[in-house]
Amino acid sequence: MARRRQLYEGKAKILFEGPEPGTLVQYFKDDATAGNGAKKGIITGKGVLNNRISEHLMLRLNEIGVPTHFVRRLNMREQLIREVEIIPIEVVVRNVSAGSLSKRLGIPEGTRLPRSIIEYYYKNDALGDPMVAEEHITAFGWASTADMDDMVALALRINDFLTGLFLGIGITLVDFKLEFGRLWENEDMRLVLADEISPDNCRLWDSKTSEKLDKDRFRRDLGRVEEAYQEVAKRLGILPEAGNNDLKGPELMQ
Ligand code: C5P
Repeated sequence: MARRRQLYEGKAKILFEGPEPGTLVQYFKDDATAGNGAKKGIITGKGVLNNRISEHLMLRLNEIGVPTHFVRRLNMREQLIREVEIIPIEVVVRNVSAGSLSKRLGIPEGTRLPRSIIEYYYKNDALGDPMVAEEHITAFGWASTADMDDMVALALRINDFLTGLFLGIGITLVDFKLEFGRLWENEDMRLVLADEISPDNCRLWDSKTSEKLDKDRFRRDLGRVEEAYQEVAKRLGILPEAGNNDLKGPELMQ
C-alpha cells in the first residue's frame, strides 16, 4: 500500500490522509493516557479492539439513522472515515454518577441519576478540557444554537440506543463522551458523530457485579486492563477470530 501522509497525532489515534478527497484514515494506537496526559501507558491490543468495537457501535448507530463519520474498517488498526470539521466540544452523557461528577458534587459513585445528564467540555489540552455551559459555547462561536440542538438530540438518541444495546449483554452504560463534526456536502452542512466509541471513552460496568470494564481500570491501577477491553468485545460478539495473538496487528506505516 502507498505511504500516507500523517495529518495529526492524538493521544490514542493517528489521522492519515485518505485515499480520496474528503476521507481520512484513522489509526488506533495501544497508547493510553489519563489525567490529561499526566499518566501514560500501553494497553496491549487496545487499538485493535477499539477499532472493532467502535466500528460495531457506529454501524449499529448508522442502522438506526444516526449519521457518523465512519465509512468502513480497513484492517486491524485502521478505519476509513469522512473528513469533518470537529466541533471543539466534548459532549458527556451520564446515566449513573461516577468520575468527575461524583468528585465535583460529592455524589457517591454508582448513584443512578434521576435523568440522563449532558455536560460540555471545551476541547483544549492546555486548559485541561474545562467544563463549559451552552452560553460559553454559543458566545464564543464554538457551535451555534442549531448545532447545540442537533448535538443534544443525537446524544440522547445515542444514549437510549447504546444503553439498551449494552444492557442486552449484561453491561451498564454509566457515562460516555462523544464528539461531533461538521460534514459539508456541496453547500449543505450536517452534524455527524465523529471520533470513536469504545471503552476508552465510555464507563461500562458489569450489570451484576459492577466490575469496571473500561479505561478506569488503567486510570485507577485496577489491573486486568487488557482483559476488560477483551470482555467488552467478546460480549459484543466481535473478538478477533484468532484470539489474543491477533491483537498486536500490523505495524504502523510511517
Ligand atoms: O472524567 P469524567 O467523569 O468527566 O468522564 C466522563 C466520561 O467521559 C467517561 O466515560 C470518560 O471515559 C469520558 N471522557 C473522555 N475523554 C475525556 C474526558 C472524559 O472520553 N477527555
